[in-house]
Amino acid sequence: MFGEKIISWYLTNKRDLPWRNTHNPYFIWLSEIILQQTRVSQGLPYYEKFVEKYPTIEDLANAEEEEVLRLWQGLGYYSRGRNLHKTSIFIQNELNGKFPESFKELQKLKGVGKYTAAAIASFAYNETVPAIDGNALRVISRYFEIFEPIDNIKTQNRIFDTSLGLIPKNQAGLYNQAVMELGATICLPKKTQCNNCPVRLECLAFTNKTVEQIPIKEKKIKVTERTLDYIIIEFEDRYWLKKRGEKDIWANMYDFFLDEGNIQNFLEKHQIKDFKLKTHQPFQHLLTHQKLIVNFTMIQCSEQPTIEGGEFYELETIKNLPKPKIIADFFEKTI
Ligand code: SF4
Repeated sequence: MFGEKIISWYLTNKRDLPWRNTHNPYFIWLSEIILQQTRVSQGLPYYEKFVEKYPTIEDLANAEEEEVLRLWQGLGYYSRGRNLHKTSIFIQNELNGKFPESFKELQKLKGVGKYTAAAIASFAYNETVPAIDGNALRVISRYFEIFEPIDNIKTQNRIFDTSLGLIPKNQAGLYNQAVMELGATICLPKKTQCNNCPVRLECLAFTNKTVEQIPIKEKKIKVTERTLDYIIIEFEDRYWLKKRGEKDIWANMYDFFLDEGNIQNFLEKHQIKDFKLKTHQPFQHLLTHQKLIVNFTMIQCSEQPTIEGGEFYELETIKNLPKPKIIADFFEKTI
């Protein structure tokens, strides 16, 4: 039986990860939000930092958003960090600090979709519900040789329903962990290690030699290129930064002045007369759908200019401000 076989494989082959040794829904939720679009090796230190700094949901709810975003810095997709904090406040204030206990109720939380709700419900409460992430989609679509696009909601619902029938009684938590672990370590997108797989004899894709063709995807991600031109204004070792607005991919984080015209206009507009200009090598930053080319031009001013929307900060203060990774990298590598 598929379920029993992969659970027994999992129990002897699993990686020891801290969120696997707990039934605490708060820790499980933290790990799941951190691991969205993030590799385990990258997410692990963040999980440890969050658990140490905020050992309970109450501690997280009582933190300042800036502090949470600073801890999140470098993980990207900052809306996750903000939702994490907002949700902790909601649970603390509206639900008396108690985590919802069912798949259905968990999906009502901000930032918690079907997969995350299923993961928490099964790992923390052992509710019989399949957690279908990208790994599970790949494993199940290969095992049953499903030649339908896995980024289509109908296929995903079919895989969810099929998986429901594969969960051994009272073992949903282990089952879900096992499928995802198989997908993360054996049933890989490329260089699939079928010879080490505990279910290869029943796997239809393996039997029919179609492993490399499955899963099928409807849409291929298109990466577009975008250039950002930053102006760094420096005066007496202090740097001008502004806090970005609420509705923004980098909401509430601090960055430099974004140049939309040219430097000459900027200098004239702000009456900067005595200065030195320094141009830095462009930085590249890859996001899921975008490749950012970021140019930095530094203006070292002899007099403090007045520029609306932000202020000058000392380096020590800047270290503690939440910043997009590209800005943090710039300070680390250049200043
Ligand atoms: S036999 Fe290969 S394709 Fe089938 S589930 Fe195992 S690793 Fe995946």
